[in-house]
Amino acid sequence: MPTRSSRSSPRRGDVTTDRPFRHCPYCGSALKRHPPSGEHRPRLVCSSCEAVIYQNPKLVVTAIIEKDGKVLLARRAAGLRAGKWDLPGGFVELDETAEEALVREVREEVGCEVRLHGVLGVFREMTGAYGPSINIHFRASALSEPRPTDEVSEVGWFGPEELPRPDEFAFENDLEALERWRTLLPLSEA
Ligand SMILES: [Zn+2]
Repeated sequence: MPTRSSRSSPRRGDVTTDRPFRHCPYCGSALKRHPPSGEHRPRLVCSSCEAVIYQNPKLVVTAIIEKDGKVLLARRAAGLRAGKWDLPGGFVELDETAEEALVREVREEVGCEVRLHGVLGVFREMTGAYGPSINIHFRASALSEPRPTDEVSEVGWFGPEELPRPDEFAFENDLEALERWRTLLPLSEA
């Protein structure tokens, strides 16, 4: 597992997405990378209409679903890092609250309804599918039994000492969240 410093301190301004935009989404002209007037940080700026393309972390919500002191993990069935373990969750859509997005994502990924019990923590992920993200992890309890779906090949409950090895996880922010989860009292006693 990388050290905390190596995964959390890229040089300011160095982070870009893997496939930078080349054309203005408003007028189609070429984008150039330079500081917009009045700013120091280089950004993608349209060479024609001068629109500034602000690139920010994606917002991701994640569920720490607990039962009897164990946490639910889901094995990714497809896409980036298929076969690795993951916590249920995903991207917040433009018309959703964080909570609405999480309830939907859990339903889509592991087929159950959840009750949310507040935020466990907020963690940064630098190796997501669409560039850096800010991940809000909520504690949750399942209102029905989770099950595999098209997106998830296997689900399982893991106690604090039973978690898969770090290299079996898809995303580092899940490891950070689970490190914090291990320090907490079970939901039933919290
Ligand atoms: Zn433009």
